Amino acid sequence: MHRLLFTDDQGDYPKFRNDHAEPVVRIGARQFKCIGVSPPDDHPHVYLEMGETGEMICTYCATRYVFDPTLAPNEAVPPECAYRAPIVAEVPT
Ligand SMILES: [Zn+2]
Repeated sequence: MHRLLFTDDQGDYPKFRNDHAEPVVRIGARQFKCIGVSPPDDHPHVYLEMGETGEMICTYCATRYVFDPTLAPNEAVPPECAYRAPIVAEVPT
């Protein structure tokens, strides 16, 4: 018997979430995906691109993302807004 954990986090854009309804989330990427809140309550993982404005509001959850060049592409302020899917693993039970 094996338990399989899935991830869709491979070779993809960095993902961000807003579990605590922060008014602004600063991120280090102009191209990213918003998932809303942590799974399983996430909204569709929508691809967003800020372009030159350096700012983007998610149409699903209305989170306001602002580009911050001092952050790494997968970093966010507050830090818990950066989301990494669980590692793919087959766990013997
Ligand atoms: Zn969203």
